Amino acid sequence: MLDCIFCKIISGEIKAYKVYEDDFVLAFLDVHPCSNGHTVVTPKQHISSLLTLEVEGWTKMTLGLKKTIEKVKEVIKPDAMNIGINEGKASGQAVPHLHWHIIPRWENDGGGSMHSIIKSKDGLPIAEVAKLFLK
Ligand code: ZN
Repeated sequence: MLDCIFCKIISGEIKAYKVYEDDFVLAFLDVHPCSNGHTVVTPKQHISSLLTLEVEGWTKMTLGLKKTIEKVKEVIKPDAMNIGINEGKASGQAVPHLHWHIIPRWENDGGGSMHSIIKSKDGLPIAEVAKLFLK
């Protein structure tokens, strides 16, 4: 896609610090890192949402993620990592090209877990939410 910054990185029009690459995936250092080695992993084809990723793409993406995680672990040597995606604008997805974040973590680095992303004040009781899945 013409105006997509990740497509421009993949095509080489914009330079990035490459971490891992294969036929399907490109991984590079996030330009606004949360920690040393914060890496973005993205499919080379422009896909905006993981819900539109084909089954074959999931397989290739998973392998690329595994290889990238191993590389980050080997090079950066963190104590732990947060790995996840922002799926959709309301979740904080800033670039509409599917991508995973690998954020290296260290003991006592002051960061939080997935549970610290949001604390909804108007959440339903869990039993009410469970009923929604039964319909
Ligand atoms: Zn793109």
